[in-house]
Amino acid sequence: MSKEEKIGSIVGLCADARDIDKNGIWHSPYGKMNLLGKKMPVSKKVRRGKEEEEVIMIAQANNYFHYCANCNKDFDDDAIILVMETARLVPAHCCNVMLWSSETDVVA
Ligand SMILES: [Zn+2]
Repeated sequence: MSKEEKIGSIVGLCADARDIDKNGIWHSPYGKMNLLGKKMPVSKKVRRGKEEEEVIMIAQANNYFHYCANCNKDFDDDAIILVMETARLVPAHCCNVMLWSSETDVVA
């Protein structure tokens, strides 16, 4: 069994934004995990029911947002957005903040 399979899911979401690379791979202390298709705990700030949602798509963040809602820096082409069932997550490398959004709100 590879390290990746052992992790299984993000427990407690102790990931830093910078630990998630441009391919949606989470580099954790326990190994690497591709977040696509995994369930992730959704921030309470944007949660609409379910505590965990599946990552259904990984796209370029600048298809959705042109700049970081936390530090106002423009996203470069390596910035990604994790699209979940209702929530969206941008691991913003510019300021190492997880930017959560729903369809209407963006919060850092
Ligand atoms: Zn930023």
